[in-house]
Amino acid sequence: MEIIITKGDITEIKCDAIVNAANNSLLGGGGVDGAIHRKAGPELLKECRTLGGCATGDAKITKAYHLPAKYVIHTVGPVYRDGHHDEAQLLESCYQRCLEIADEYNCHHLAFPSISTGAYRYPILAAAKIAVLTIQNYQEKCLKKVEIVCFDDYTYSIYKKVMEEKK
Ligand code: ADP
Repeated sequence: MEIIITKGDITEIKCDAIVNAANNSLLGGGGVDGAIHRKAGPELLKECRTLGGCATGDAKITKAYHLPAKYVIHTVGPVYRDGHHDEAQLLESCYQRCLEIADEYNCHHLAFPSISTGAYRYPILAAAKIAVLTIQNYQEKCLKKVEIVCFDDYTYSIYKKVMEEKK
C-alpha cells in the first residue's frame, strides 16, 4: 500500500473515498466538513441525518453525491485538551476505523485530511506522527493508495517531514 502526502483541497480528489473530519452530530460544521457538504450538496446532509451521529474515534460511511469521490467516510477526531484525555488513542482510532471501513467497501484509493488539527487544535506534529504510523501499520485488504491531503503549506511541510523520518 502506497502512502503519499499531497497539498490541496480534498473535495477535488477523484478517489474511492475521502475522509471527513466531522463532529459528533454529523450534521455539518466548518473547515473541511463545511467544504465537503457544500460540494456534495444537500443530499449528503439528508443521509447524515439518518446515521444518528458518531462517537469520537469512530467513523461512518455515506455516498459522496456531487463530489468526485465515490464515498465519504465521516470520522470524529478528539478535541485536544491537554493530552491527558485519550486524545492520542482517539485520533489513532479515527485513522484505523476509516481504513477498515474503506477496505470493507472495497476501496483502492482513500484520501484523509489532517484530522483534528484545525478547529480541534491537536498539535500538528504529534497528530502527523499518529496519522502516518497508524496508516503504515495498517494491514490492508484491498487498499492500494492512501493519500493525506494537506490544505496549507505548513501542514504539508510537517506531514512530509514525518513521512521522511518514518521511511
Ligand atoms: P477538525 O475539527 O478535526 O480540527 P478542521 O476542518 O477544522 O477539522 O481542520 C482539519 C484540517 O483540515 C486542517 O488542517 C484544515 O486546514 C484542513 N482543511 C480545511 N479545508 C480543507 C479542504 N477543503 N481540504 C483538505 N483539508 C482541509
